[in-house]
Amino acid sequence: MGDALVDGFLWLQDRAWELVVQPLVYALGFAAYIEDAYTATGIMLMGAIGVVAMVALLAPLERLRAVEAPGPWRAVAADVAYTLIHRLGLFGLIAFAFTDPVEIAFTHLLMAFGLPRGSLLDALPPLRDWPGLELAVYVLVLDFVMYWVHRGQHGLTAWWALHALHHSQRHMTLWSNDRNHLLDDALIALIMVVVGTLVGLPPAAYAWVAVVLGLVESLSHANARLDFGPVGERLLVSPRYHRAHHAIGDYTNAEMRSCNFAVLFPVWDMLFGTADFRRDVYPATGIIDDDFGDGLLRQQVAGLRRLARLLPGGTARRA
Ligand SMILES: [Zn+2]
Ligand SMILES: [Zn+2]
Repeated sequence: MGDALVDGFLWLQDRAWELVVQPLVYALGFAAYIEDAYTATGIMLMGAIGVVAMVALLAPLERLRAVEAPGPWRAVAADVAYTLIHRLGLFGLIAFAFTDPVEIAFTHLLMAFGLPRGSLLDALPPLRDWPGLELAVYVLVLDFVMYWVHRGQHGLTAWWALHALHHSQRHMTLWSNDRNHLLDDALIALIMVVVGTLVGLPPAAYAWVAVVLGLVESLSHANARLDFGPVGERLLVSPRYHRAHHAIGDYTNAEMRSCNFAVLFPVWDMLFGTADFRRDVYPATGIIDDDFGDGLLRQQVAGLRRLARLLPGGTARRA
């Protein structure tokens, strides 16, 4: 089953390569980058599969269990654009570009201290016999890091200047997960590559992990009245759980302080005292001092302006 999936994927990658990407690479005079272009084709194809799966699974859910009427089409269109930019390549390509320099820097650092190169598998040898468990441990480690990255996005004023863009959506949909400042995206890609290198996560495995994580994250932003029950709410982030994180105004003294920072597993919020399990509550979402507007470019500029205001001489303004 697994082999058939891999074969099917490679077949698709080769067709996309022969029919579209390879002729394009030659026509544009980038023949020197032919190997990188083939890898990039795989990254884009994986992203496309993730987007198709997301729409197929979550659009019917939103129709059946909508919390609120859909927002203005321009606001949704920007989120669709973010999703396509992010999943069809940008994040993967940034991560791919960072991989070699981070790997080299890490190897030099280890050599400087005379340390051997290891991975999570070396630290926990029994994992070698359980590939599924090995992947689960990687996901757990990445999710733990993402929890603290998210705490940083809310706790550090400069980082919040960018992350506020993610929270500015007043009508969340399955498309809202990738609504991020591109600078924030690049920073997170770098952090994830560093963590992946530290634990020895194989890059190919990371790409598939990203597809599955993307699906769960899209679900958590869906416009759906859905919680996973008293036990399930503590096991996996639900649309109800993440909506509380996006609440506007007084719900949990939201926005910069907020609650429910976990990306996949609420256990981190439980351990660090940031969980809110009030069920049957679907608060309005957004930020009070919203100056982002609807268009993607305008939002990117607004994020940079917010950041600039924090520089010495800028007129600081907090959420
Ligand atoms: Zn947040
Ligand atoms: Zn969110």
